Amino acid sequence: MKTTRRDFIKIGSMGAGGLAIATSPLLNWVPGFLKEDSEVLDDSKLKRTATYCEVCFWKCAAWTYTDKKGKIVKLIGNEEDQQSNGRLCPRGTGGLGMYYDKDRLKKPLIRRKGKRGESDYFEEASWEEALDLIAENMDRIKKEHGPECVALFSHGSGTSHFAHMLKAFGSTNIAAPSYAQCRGPREVGFDATFGESVGSPEPLDIRNTKCMVLIGSHLGENMHNGQVQEMAQAIDNGATIITVDPRFSTAASKSKIWLPIKPATDLALLLAWINVIINDELYDKKYVEKYTYGFDLLKNHVKNFTPEWAATETGLDPNKIREAAYEMGAASPAVIIHPGRHVTWYGDDTQRSRAIAILNALLGSYGRRGGFYIAEKFKLPKFPHPPYPKPKRTWRDAFPGSYKLVHEVISSGVCEATIPNQMARPEDTCNFKAWLVYGTNLLSSLPDINNTIEAIKQLEFIAVIDTMPMEITGWADVVLPEATYLERYDMLRVLKHRKPSIALRAPATKPLYDSKPGWWIAKQLGERLGLQEFFKFKNIEEELDWQLKKIGSSLEEMKKVGVKTFDRTYDDLYYRNGEELEFGTNTGKIELYSTALAEEGYDAMPVYTKHPQPAPGFYRFIYGRAPMHTFGKTVNNPYLADLMDENSVWVNPKVAKDWGMRNGKEIWLENQDGVVSTFPVKVRVTERIRSDAVYVVHGFGHNNKGMGLKRSHGKGMNDTEMITNVMNDKISGGTGMRGNFVTFLLEEPEKKETTV
Ligand code: SF4
Repeated sequence: MKTTRRDFIKIGSMGAGGLAIATSPLLNWVPGFLKEDSEVLDDSKLKRTATYCEVCFWKCAAWTYTDKKGKIVKLIGNEEDQQSNGRLCPRGTGGLGMYYDKDRLKKPLIRRKGKRGESDYFEEASWEEALDLIAENMDRIKKEHGPECVALFSHGSGTSHFAHMLKAFGSTNIAAPSYAQCRGPREVGFDATFGESVGSPEPLDIRNTKCMVLIGSHLGENMHNGQVQEMAQAIDNGATIITVDPRFSTAASKSKIWLPIKPATDLALLLAWINVIINDELYDKKYVEKYTYGFDLLKNHVKNFTPEWAATETGLDPNKIREAAYEMGAASPAVIIHPGRHVTWYGDDTQRSRAIAILNALLGSYGRRGGFYIAEKFKLPKFPHPPYPKPKRTWRDAFPGSYKLVHEVISSGVCEATIPNQMARPEDTCNFKAWLVYGTNLLSSLPDINNTIEAIKQLEFIAVIDTMPMEITGWADVVLPEATYLERYDMLRVLKHRKPSIALRAPATKPLYDSKPGWWIAKQLGERLGLQEFFKFKNIEEELDWQLKKIGSSLEEMKKVGVKTFDRTYDDLYYRNGEELEFGTNTGKIELYSTALAEEGYDAMPVYTKHPQPAPGFYRFIYGRAPMHTFGKTVNNPYLADLMDENSVWVNPKVAKDWGMRNGKEIWLENQDGVVSTFPVKVRVTERIRSDAVYVVHGFGHNNKGMGLKRSHGKGMNDTEMITNVMNDKISGGTGMRGNFVTFLLEEPEKKETTV
């Protein structure tokens, strides 16, 4: 049987458990959640191996199927998994394209001459030589500057291996762009309100909700698998969906109310909703009285923020604003104002997230059926090792007095602190001298590319570990090719959910080329750095088996089941009626007035700030996701590129007419700082976007000279290039990236020499 690329997607979408969920016709709105295909590979002739997906951070548990020759033929969701319900999303199904991609990194590479960014000067090397070189540089920097001057940027499951190695080495400067460039503000905003951050996956009881509000959150395009499935269930059950978005997104098309808000005014809408919910007594009175702090202060704070006031800011109909508030009130407490995920927009994002948290609190949805459930995480023992050395300095020393409410490392902060004299900071703080970059393309994930390049130029050493040659690879001194998730073990997946569970990732086949698993690379580096005591296991099988035996299971058992789910320790999924609760805030209550924010000198309740709007001829630049791609890392995947191989720029028909642009015309974008897109992008004329904004899908327009993303090179435009105005959120360190405006160049601009 000949299997086409699209067939891979169909086959993998058919886990048996998934078919039950798939009965919802609504799931057909998501490409890839397809119906049963008659050409199914015969499972009885295949071997299956437990894994969990690495195509995005959702980590759905799955089975990898291999044929008699050991060839990977399909991926199917594990039915026992709460994250996927036995069903992978289109991206996850196409995950085997990561294995088959011929552009993969194949051998360790060393830059023997030339400057960083000139990738033509790489030469293949042995693992011995490459690992020795990294260890030598780390050791030297430790002696000359201290171990804290080495930072790790990372994304993905393999982070734990390298984080362990770096902590043993003496540095806790371990940063993930998924914090300061994505969810950081909501974690601080929810923490300031409920005394705990949201975390991942968000504990949202979507399947039982009666009303869900999405604010700039594109479920269906953002393939958060379990959430998308639950949203389809909720809609089938008659739930009301309210979508706030300047774009008529997929979610908006499934919504009872779509509010096409003027970008950058979301906080005005949220304050108006709080006003209506308080003044029209739509809030959950018993819940608010028993569990919250600062209600009267909040009531007074929002008294002037009427829907009519918000209408002047947001461009929305005040009656629609009121109608949406009444929908929420009627559904209370089974209502979710979704906290969102990528929330770094305008620099006041913690306060916007606070307003979302406050709305949930007023409606009594936190800890309630159809709102937020109480998630549980399994406690897994750690393989014994000596205590980590206590670092003398951390990234925080570069920002005295700032970010006290932040609990993770701010990646853009590490980047800033790498450039000498960029910031006024005390003498005894480290300028970072070396970066290890694992699984994240920093030139795409951090805003302001030139700043990132400047930081990289200042480094004494940089090593990149990845499966694919991304732009960041071209800037490395040493490149290590990692095996894909289908060819390696990783640590057990331990996620909080309705029930605690663990999942195994085991290799379905041997690593292709000369790639190696992350655990092996980290152990090899650790041993070269004299950290043998921290790596006393022979291999990861021994480490995993030790952990599993401690909890009454074994590696052998996990290979058979893939996922193991445990009973909850706290019986109820929701707060019990009238239960006495103590929240992790200063007052022990849900803080509508945040004492923690007040103590740090910030607004204790959200204050609306007017943000600049585009000048004539310019349009707000917004970006988002497509269901078949995850950031920039999947656009070279042969199966996923087959579904979408370039982005386009969404332009309102009125704007297209003003500019004389037709559908499909290739144009270049130029931002407010005169930065022009390296590659052209095709115009998509659509009513689905406001006339003051344009939209592109993130992650396209790869441009790494010489290193070989052949399939995706120059396809579409790179949205990160346009993000040169970064509005830092002083509270969370989040990098607001939605304050950039673009205009159109209808003819090809004069070519500039590019180095990325
Ligand atoms: Fe993989 Fe999709 Fe699940 Fe993400 S949501 S882990 S891409 S199957």
